[in-house]
Amino acid sequence: MSDATLIANDAKNIVQAHLDRLGEPKDNRLSEEAKQQKFAQIEAELKKRDAVLVAHYYCDPEVQELAEKTGGCVSDSLEMARFGRDHAASTLVVAGVKFMGETAKILSPEKTILMPTLEATCSLDLGCPVDEFTAFCDQHPDHTVVVYANTSAAVKARADWVVTSSCAVEIVEHLDSLGEKIIWAPDQHLGRYIQKKTGADMLLWDGACIVHEEFRARGIANMKALYPDAAVLVHPESPESVVEIADAVGSTSQLIKAAQTLPNERLIVATDRGIFYKMQQAVPNKILVEAPTAGEGATCRSCAHCPWMAMNELDGILEVLQKGDQEIHVDPALAERAKMPLDRMLAFSASLKR
Ligand code: SF4
Repeated sequence: MSDATLIANDAKNIVQAHLDRLGEPKDNRLSEEAKQQKFAQIEAELKKRDAVLVAHYYCDPEVQELAEKTGGCVSDSLEMARFGRDHAASTLVVAGVKFMGETAKILSPEKTILMPTLEATCSLDLGCPVDEFTAFCDQHPDHTVVVYANTSAAVKARADWVVTSSCAVEIVEHLDSLGEKIIWAPDQHLGRYIQKKTGADMLLWDGACIVHEEFRARGIANMKALYPDAAVLVHPESPESVVEIADAVGSTSQLIKAAQTLPNERLIVATDRGIFYKMQQAVPNKILVEAPTAGEGATCRSCAHCPWMAMNELDGILEVLQKGDQEIHVDPALAERAKMPLDRMLAFSASLKR
């Protein structure tokens, strides 16, 4: 067995132990009246603290709705980073997972970064421990190190570039055009997708997202047989066989755009179901269908919703605003090193927009 396989097995054990501690996801649905009362309470606390809510597309719909109603943002991790950095508020409440809070702190060290829970992590982050990753990079000193945003501050500090799924292809294309060989971490499926698209020379770490890894080509093909006119939208953290049958592949923002531009009235969506909230707003007349996962009908853990994103609840947001605990801290020296590859990404993606 290769070192990389051993590392991947270790990572799976770390993730499983963490999920076992979390227990089954809770159902906290509120009546409309109770929800609006909670929104009003949270809005008052946000004002008191000069805070703004920055939420990811994979959070539960009520958290996204709250962010919209209170002048915050709902977006992918690239836009969350930009929004948080550029917003005038002195406190950012990040509803997402830990690496997003760390990224906010690295980009805005002067701001207070709060999260509804510091327990919310990511299997990609857990599956790429800094010591093993550093040793791997040290074995290949002639490679440029490109890491996905879903990594710890320490792993980012070891990288030359940070990327998100909305700009990864363009950044790797750019590096390939300079003749650079690349170490890619941690998502193996996204890495393989980019490698195929760009033809770049890439060494892949073998981490995976526990949500996207659950999608299966066979289940989606069966669904396509039921709805032959539907288009299939796939996030590239999904396995290669799933990417191959997609009509559109892209980051969360790119999938929302694809939902708007594709002519199909029905869309089968293979990414976290949290995205349905914003996607349905973008295409109110289209029918969105969840792509089936491997554990269809088996356990909640195999449905297309990230257990860590689900930990961002209204009660947690209210509590952290009242108490001011659950604050993200990043060692300043480490943050300075991690900021360099993040700034590179932000500058590169800004140049793409021009
Ligand atoms: S959906 Fe996957 S990649 Fe996103 S935070 Fe959850 S485990 Fe990580």
